[in-house]
Amino acid sequence: MTNHPARVRRGAPAARNVLGRGTEEREGARMARVYNFSAGPAVLPEEVLAEAASEMLDYRGSGMSVMEMSHRSKPFGEIIENAEADLRELVGIPDNYRVLFLQGGASQQFAAVPMNLMKNRVADYIVTGAWAKKAFKEAKIFGDARAIASSEDETFSYIPDCSDLDVSPDADYVYICENNTIYGTKFHTLPNTKGKDLVADVSSCFLSEPVDITRYGVMYGGAQKNIGPAGVVISIIREDLITDDVLEGTPTMLKWKTQADANSLYNTPPAYGIYICGKVFKWLKDQGGLEAMQQRNQEKAALLYDFLDASKLFRGTVRKEDRSLMNVPFVAGDADLDAAFVAEAKAAGLENLKGHRSVGGMRASIYNAMPRAGVEALVAFMDKFEQAHK
Ligand SMILES: *Cc1c(COP(=O)(O)O)cnc(C)c1O
Repeated sequence: MTNHPARVRRGAPAARNVLGRGTEEREGARMARVYNFSAGPAVLPEEVLAEAASEMLDYRGSGMSVMEMSHRSKPFGEIIENAEADLRELVGIPDNYRVLFLQGGASQQFAAVPMNLMKNRVADYIVTGAWAKKAFKEAKIFGDARAIASSEDETFSYIPDCSDLDVSPDADYVYICENNTIYGTKFHTLPNTKGKDLVADVSSCFLSEPVDITRYGVMYGGAQKNIGPAGVVISIIREDLITDDVLEGTPTMLKWKTQADANSLYNTPPAYGIYICGKVFKWLKDQGGLEAMQQRNQEKAALLYDFLDASKLFRGTVRKEDRSLMNVPFVAGDADLDAAFVAEAKAAGLENLKGHRSVGGMRASIYNAMPRAGVEALVAFMDKFEQAHK
């Protein structure tokens, strides 16, 4: 493993084009990019940011930025159509599923899901972390939401056995949060829903590996973890679940049918965010698609987990077989050491390693856009820290 300095200064030629002469002398200061391990909003591919910068003032001869453009204009029409087409190709989304670009964050879907799906006013939730719990609480506003499995007894450090759940016969759907961003667990096997439609919040594992969409009724996620900027939510919904038969009082904007009928252009969509998401889809295709991403994500995660398993100072906090490839929580033994680690790492250009406020310790989010070199730099730094604290 290379033991190079963590802080890297990489040129961003496209930004220079936009900002013109006079930036060269300040480039060192302006262009220093850290390795950003934030859980979200999170790291984006540098190539995407550079290309967006180069198009900032004049998007492909339009004479304006995408930010300044009507969402009904021809260039934006192409942006959103291409984004959907690329996403469909990447994931292999069949024709009987709709792709919606929405707003309101993943948290707003916590309400939209029951409002659109709770015909019997019964839904089963598998509670594996803070986000699943929030979704569960939200569903209770609308009907009889039942927690049919939970891992709260052990601080959400594992995924419960979901092979033979007590699924309610009249449940409108079974709900999971597939990758638990805060606790760092992931469903590596989908639950046996006994024929009920599966609804999954995939915010923090979206496009990290190939998926079989046909196993889901609804798959949705906020873009700001693994895809693009905050402000965009992508929902992939089987067509027959998009109906006028929603709960009474459902706001027009939260009705999936409104959004589907208008091809996500019922009102002004988060246009610039969708544009960046589209670039990320193209970037993922250039990287070799979701199988290649899975391979790389497995390799990156293995670097970190192997180190944690061998370390005498650090340890991972999650049951091994349920480990996430995206969010890796770990601790150094006590709160003072944890704090020292986070501070020293930051000084070395490894940012946002502090664990979620509800769990403490550290968490490294190593999404698609985190280069392998970033994980190598982190592991090298952890090794150095461990040697210094023997
Ligand atoms: C971040 C996150 C959310 C909340 O997303 P918002 O867009 O802030 O509402 C929901 N679910 C998961 C799994 C997340 O990681």
